[in-house]
Amino acid sequence: MYWIERLSAIQYDTKYLGVIIMTDQAVSTGPLPIVPFVKLPEGAEPYLEGHKCQSCGAVYVGERNTCSKCFATDKMEVIKLAGTGRLYTYTVVYRSFPGTKVPFVSAVVDLDGGGTLKGNLINIEPDPEKITTDIPVKVVFADAGRQDAQGNSYTSYFFEPLESA
Ligand SMILES: [Zn+2]
Repeated sequence: MYWIERLSAIQYDTKYLGVIIMTDQAVSTGPLPIVPFVKLPEGAEPYLEGHKCQSCGAVYVGERNTCSKCFATDKMEVIKLAGTGRLYTYTVVYRSFPGTKVPFVSAVVDLDGGGTLKGNLINIEPDPEKITTDIPVKVVFADAGRQDAQGNSYTSYFFEPLESA
């Protein structure tokens, strides 16, 4: 499962965070979204944004121009993704980059209504004996726990078991 851990770190540290830092959003008063599909509307609840194919109904997290299911192009509609879903699979990460608190649970979640994404499952004991797949989870938003060189903080999404709400 080492590759998942690596992917996770690369995804946050290089791809998304890097892209955000390179935009003009560097100067901001509030936290910035850790990834473009985290939406932080002013005066409203944060949510995840996705795209839905108007030809076949396939749902994707984030931006998508072509449907990988039916290959339709320019048929994508922007949608608000569900704030709940089910745990598809997970791995407990024991080794990560310096400064990252371990162990943590890296999870893949199928959102209700479509869309699958990876993120950290929090408020659960990182013990494989105590985590079962297919449990209902909800999407929560919190500080990503780190700042960039300009002092910006980032809001990330996490999953937590629905029962602990
Ligand atoms: Zn489609």
